[in-house]
Amino acid sequence: MTKVTRAHLVIRHKALECIGCCLCEETAPQYFRMDESGMAQLVDGIPLGVFHKVVALKIDEAELDEAAEGCPVDIIRISAQ
Ligand code: SF4
Repeated sequence: MTKVTRAHLVIRHKALECIGCCLCEETAPQYFRMDESGMAQLVDGIPLGVFHKVVALKIDEAELDEAAEGCPVDIIRISAQ
C-alpha cells in the first residue's frame, strides 16, 4: 500500500462521464490513458463510488491542475489527500 504524505496528491476521475477529448492524456500521460473505446481511464485507478482514484506525486501538480481545469466536463478532482 502506498503511503500518502505531503509529497502526494490524490486524483479522482469520474470516467463514466468522459467525452474522450484526450486533453488529460496529453497533459498528464503518466496518469491518464485513452482506452480502446476512446475514453480516458486513470492509470492503475482504484474504484471509489462513481470515481476511480489514484495517488499522484506532488511534483506533478501543475500538469494535474491543468488537466483538471481543462477537462470540458469537469470530472477530474485533485486533492491533498
Ligand atoms: S479531459 Fe475530461 S473529457 Fe477529456 S478525455 Fe480527460 S477526462 Fe475525458
